[in-house]
Amino acid sequence: MTRRVVLIGHPVAHSLSGAMQQAAFDELGVDARYELWDRAPIELGDAVAEIRGEDFLGANVTIPHKERVVPMVDRLTEEASATGAVNTITREGRRLIGHNTDVPGFKVALDRLVGRQKMPKQAVVLGAGGGARAVVYGLITEGFQRVIVFNRHLHRAEGLVKHFGRSAAHMELRAMPWHESIIEAEVAKAKLLVNATSIGLTTDVSPVPVEVLHTELLVLDLIYSRTRLLRDAAAAGATIADGELMLLNQGAAAFTLWTGQPAPLELMQAKLAEARAGGVRSAEGEPAEAAAGAAAE
Ligand code: NDP
Repeated sequence: MTRRVVLIGHPVAHSLSGAMQQAAFDELGVDARYELWDRAPIELGDAVAEIRGEDFLGANVTIPHKERVVPMVDRLTEEASATGAVNTITREGRRLIGHNTDVPGFKVALDRLVGRQKMPKQAVVLGAGGGARAVVYGLITEGFQRVIVFNRHLHRAEGLVKHFGRSAAHMELRAMPWHESIIEAEVAKAKLLVNATSIGLTTDVSPVPVEVLHTELLVLDLIYSRTRLLRDAAAAGATIADGELMLLNQGAAAFTLWTGQPAPLELMQAKLAEARAGGVRSAEGEPAEAAAGAAAE
């Protein structure tokens, strides 16, 4: 029987995951098909019920369902429970397990960015959505001592900080209002800056003014392209990375969860690059309005 893995999102036509996951199944001789399921929020419950069937290996879940799907599965892994977000589902009999592979994906990207240097202890995170939750949890478990979260809508950043209250009890995790002068003061003190907003995804703008960036800084943009932020940061002498490694490694971790086999990373990376060259440029987790904008370009 050909097994099925589905990506449940809304919209999903822009996804880069299909190409990399199908190529990985084919390469390792896994008889499985990766399908894109565009499901509006009201259809999510039915979609989740359907993947309890025997022909399913599991699913990926993306924007806007990562948080909404949490109460619909039977068990959560530690990362899914801590972040309050699920991006991968596996099946054990009729029971569904919710995982968050964005967290290990982010950690691979962070480790590569830090390289041989000492892991920093202070970070500034821009954004408070699903991506930011994976980032903040990754930083907490990496032993960061001070993490400042800026978000356009402050209440969402405050909600994120409250959500991590207990796991961040030993450190300083704070939400701050999105004011240039405050961002500048905090970035000046930090060694790591992570952009987890979608600013720069469909327009060539940076979330921070260029003067904020300095040569000691490590800058990670979750967006899978060379954004204005990354170009400005490189020009300022900072060390930079885009969202490719995170996207690749969250996909690789999901592949292993479904199949029990190590993922063919090089092949998956090549397929991602191909899909991007072919004009599909969004990472997973792209907000609906941004995806619509990108598709229209
Ligand atoms: P969400 O929709 O959950 O969050 C979007 C974030 O961007 C919010 O913090 C939002 O602020 C902010 N934002 C959007 N537009 C603006 C704007 N014009 N000005 C200021 N802030 C803005 O999305 P995700 O967290 O899932 O994704 C965020 C980004 O991270 C996307 O670009 C996505 O592609 C990328 N991503 C990459 C991954 C990877 O594997 N590389 C994994 C996950 C995400 P507000 O709350 O105020 O609206």
